[in-house]
Order: sequence, then C-alpha cells, then structure tokens
Amino acid sequence: AIEVKDLHKRFGPLEVLKGVSLTANQGDVIAIIGGSGSGKSTLLRCINMLELPSAGSVTVHGEEIQMKPDGDGGLMPANRRQVQRIRSQLGMVFQSFNLWQHMTVLQNVIEVPVHVLKQPRDEAIAVAETLLKRVGLYEKRNAYPAFMSGGQQQRAAIARALAIQPLVMLFDEPTSALDPELVGEVLTVIGDLAREKRTMILVTHEMKFARQVASHVVFLHGGVIEEQGPPQAIFENPQSERLKKFISSIH
Ligand code: ATP
Ligand code: MG
Repeated sequence: AIEVKDLHKRFGPLEVLKGVSLTANQGDVIAIIGGSGSGKSTLLRCINMLELPSAGSVTVHGEEIQMKPDGDGGLMPANRRQVQRIRSQLGMVFQSFNLWQHMTVLQNVIEVPVHVLKQPRDEAIAVAETLLKRVGLYEKRNAYPAFMSGGQQQRAAIARALAIQPLVMLFDEPTSALDPELVGEVLTVIGDLAREKRTMILVTHEMKFARQVASHVVFLHGGVIEEQGPPQAIFENPQSERLKKFISSIH
C-alpha cells in the first residue's frame, strides 16, 4: 500500500534521513523504533507530505507522489491536488492528540468527512458514532477535548483518523504523552486495528507492544535503517551492536 524509496530529508545543513526505503503491503503493521533524533517522526511526516522530502519517492496505493525541484536543492509537490488526495488516504495520529479544542468529539470526527470529503452530514454522523462506539467513547461524543483524559483524547483522535476511511494508518508515538495508567486503553484500540489487518506504520517506544502487533520492525539510527526484520528476530536476535544497545537501554 505504501512504498518509500531512497528517501532523503535535510533541514539546512542537517541531513536527517539519508536514504530510507521501506514497503508496507496491505495488512502489514510496520513498527519503527530508534533513539531520539534518529528520524522516525520525519520519516512519517515525509510519507504524508507534512514534510517535503529532499530526494526519493513515496508511492501510495501504486500512485507515486509527483515531485519537482524547488530551486533550492530540495523537492516540492508538482501537483497540490494529488498531495491532498493522497493525504486523504492516510490517517495520521500524533503524540499530542491534536484534536480541535473548540469542537466536541463528534464534531472532530465528522469535520473532514463533511467539509473536505463532502460526505452527507447524517452519513458522516452514523459512521462517526460507530467508530466512537468502537473506541469506547460513544458516551463522550458531545464532550469537549479539554474535559477528557489524555487516553480518551487519543482514542478520539484515532476515531477521527479512521473516519476518512484511510488505506493506511500512521501513528507517531501515540502513547508517549500519556500517563502510564492510560497507555493500555490506547494500545488496546491500536491492537484491535492490527488484528483486523489494517495497514499501519507505527512509531513507538512500547517495545512489548511492537513485538506483539508488528509484522515487521524497522530500527532507524542516524537517518538510515540500521536493521530490520520480523519482531522475533529484532528483539531476540539483534545483529547490529547499535540495536543490541538500544534494546537493552529500553528494558
Ligand atoms: P524522537 O524520538 O525524539 O521523537 P525522532 O526519531 O522522531 O525523535 P525527528 O523528530 O525525526 O526524530 O528528528 C530528527 C532530527 O531532525 C533531529 O535532530 C531534529 O532536531 C531534526 N529536525 C526535525 N524537524 C526539524 C525541523 N523542522 N527543522 C530542523 N530540524 C528538524
Ligand atoms: Mg519523533
């Protein structure tokens, strides 16, 4: 469903991604692990074009995002409409929830379906209510984010991302801003999505969870894939010294 080829990203003199390639096929759950500053968030943000790659390509569902030189050594989208269309196939969940604070949970979930995807409001509400039931928030549908726990807000953010019926879900450390006692409820929701064989790319520090749900684990270090493989191999039989060190530092 997603193919990233030789992706590079620089911020001025700093090269953060130095040629990353990865493929997420239908039903894959790719876990991206690595130390702080290794480029995990930048990689996810390049996939949905929140950041523009400096070089390389991103293909979503067989369609390569068209890029052209930006005149400054980097790239820019050649076709903004295409970027919008492709982005609307990717559901993104951030560390910091990013719900719209002035809207209720239900309004958050239907906003893009109604106003961007032009779905009829009553249909969008029906879908939203089903999703909110699934993440255990139906009773909170008329609440404002400020009155909800972090775990509830993050589950609402997941429902909002699912409401666009994305081909792929992208998660950037969805539990790392949560109090420890709230992590489990969010991981349960993500685990359910994995069991349904949803295609997902998940940046996480939750190694135990990555081990359980991932079909493939990618270890980023210094902007390159240092090692990758099935969870069992990565966690039980790491090859590179850096990965060994990283794994022992986490426990
Ligand atoms: P963490 O685990 O702390 O979230 P990460 O692996 O997600 O780390 P990134 O956020 O991708 O790391 O950042 C990688 C590097 O790129 C860091 O050195 C960071 O300071 C730098 N960086 C990220 N975004 C920008 C930006 N917009 N401008 C300049 N530098 C940036
Ligand atoms: Mg990050």
